[in-house]
Amino acid sequence: MKAIVYESFSAPPQLTTVPDPTPDNSGVVIQVMATGVCRSDWHGWVGHDPDIHLPHVPGHEFSGVVTAVGKQVEKWKIGDRVTVPFVAGCGHCPECHSGNHQVCDHQFQPGFTHWGSFAEYVSIHQADINLVALPESLDFTTAASLGCRFVTSFRAVVDQGKTSAGQWVAVHGCGGVGLSAIMIAHAIGANVIAIDIADDKLELARKLGAVATVNASKEPDVIEAVMDISRGGAHVSLDALGHPVTCFNSISNLRKRGKHVQVGLMLGEHSTPAIPMSKVIAHELEILGSHGMQAHRYDAMLAMMAAGKLAPEKLIGRTISLEQSIDVLMNMDKFEVTGVTVVTEF
Ligand SMILES: [Zn+2]
Ligand SMILES: [Zn+2]
Repeated sequence: MKAIVYESFSAPPQLTTVPDPTPDNSGVVIQVMATGVCRSDWHGWVGHDPDIHLPHVPGHEFSGVVTAVGKQVEKWKIGDRVTVPFVAGCGHCPECHSGNHQVCDHQFQPGFTHWGSFAEYVSIHQADINLVALPESLDFTTAASLGCRFVTSFRAVVDQGKTSAGQWVAVHGCGGVGLSAIMIAHAIGANVIAIDIADDKLELARKLGAVATVNASKEPDVIEAVMDISRGGAHVSLDALGHPVTCFNSISNLRKRGKHVQVGLMLGEHSTPAIPMSKVIAHELEILGSHGMQAHRYDAMLAMMAAGKLAPEKLIGRTISLEQSIDVLMNMDKFEVTGVTVVTEF
């Protein structure tokens, strides 16, 4: 099969031919029909992820068709249209037994722990617990775009933040993760305040449902601004960027007993940010993370999409070929392109 392979970190990946994968007993092979390009792929490529062993095939936000099925697989057959969460579970550890496959003790992450979806085919383990059936009405490109940013935001807003109608939700950072969170929080009836440093992103945030925006490059006190707009602070606040400043602001702009959810990744020198812990204690704040979403929780999100309440296709940017993904991947840190870039030509 054709695949994008890198032999060493930060060296240009190559489009090359490698052997086709075969399924293990509990796994399947999926023909990749669409795969998103993500900043996490860039982090992996430059060597920030100790799970990656070389040579490596990146790619973790994908959808496709099952083309081979292991002997023990019960739920899936050749021809099924599917997607897979970017963290897949082992099915045997205490976290998986409690239904929290997104924090499995023995995680399987295509594109990180194993070869990923920048290829014609990808092999997935424990298919019965990790695959998600796609409704006929959902196209492959949109399905691939759910893969990591959208599902992580869904879990952050709905399952971790437990956001309810009428609450104030602050979203710091209006890239792919932030815009997804704004759309989701708006859909469940929350009042969303979007914070970013770019006016065009804030305008997009308004179109997706934000009722107020704060431009952090012009507003001298972001925390005060959010407290004012929400008349006392946000009930739920997200750092959708992953930066010490947005993390600090997100915790500080909460009202008493509010919840901060860290969604943006904190890597390298950003991994131990300052936390206003005295406020966390005095105001009984909660600090939570969101690490993808387990396959069995996709149903709720897909139902909202089918009902027209969520439209992740609005966040898709351009579609490219597998070969073009090399250039996009290598330049992922340079600027954030508007919308998710999806490979649709293999
Ligand atoms: Zn991703
Ligand atoms: Zn597990």
